[in-house]
Amino acid sequence: MESLEEKKHRAIEICRVLKKRYPEARCTLDHSGPYELLVATMLAAQCTDERVNMVTPALFKRYPDAASLAGADEAELQEMIRSTGFFRNKTKSLLSMAADIVEKFNGEIPSDIDSLTRLAGVGRKTANVVIANCFDGQAIIVDTHCKRLAGRLGFSRESNPDKIERDLQTIVPEDSWTLWSHLMVFHGRNICTARKPGCPECPVSRLCPWPDKTGSG
Ligand code: SF4
Repeated sequence: MESLEEKKHRAIEICRVLKKRYPEARCTLDHSGPYELLVATMLAAQCTDERVNMVTPALFKRYPDAASLAGADEAELQEMIRSTGFFRNKTKSLLSMAADIVEKFNGEIPSDIDSLTRLAGVGRKTANVVIANCFDGQAIIVDTHCKRLAGRLGFSRESNPDKIERDLQTIVPEDSWTLWSHLMVFHGRNICTARKPGCPECPVSRLCPWPDKTGSG
């Protein structure tokens, strides 16, 4: 059985190889600060980043900060975000989150995980996205790609995102947590897809123990 040290070495090597393969790996939600990224990440639930990026320019123009969003008309906000899906629930979450920022944090987006997860509608994943991309923090962001790849790469047997995050935190070097998160998204979208992973063309195939690797035929 592979030791923790061996897993750590494998993770470093995977990071090195994927960094070369995806030098452009980064957050793909357009934003200019923590408020915008928080809103965009909440809209990205069950929706593509491309779709969210089509909706947010007008949204941020209309509601440039938490205070203006907190005072938004519910029906108008619903219409603006309708195309991202689940728009009624997302509207409620955005209004509650914005009200919390105004009431509990004087209108400023907090930068630590405990405060961020105190906001209505904000879980660890969303909080980690903001910490990793806006506050120079290191964070493992367990989205659908990170979760699937953690299993295939043999780094976690858990299905609960919080437990997967903890597993990866012990294996991936802390100074690479954010990079790791971006690399998993890029690799998960491009090669290690959910339905048909491209194992024959995968640059980390030799480092991956997944028993169901697809063959070349
Ligand atoms: S070898 Fe296959 S399963 Fe493993 S990381 Fe690459 S694409 Fe994913």
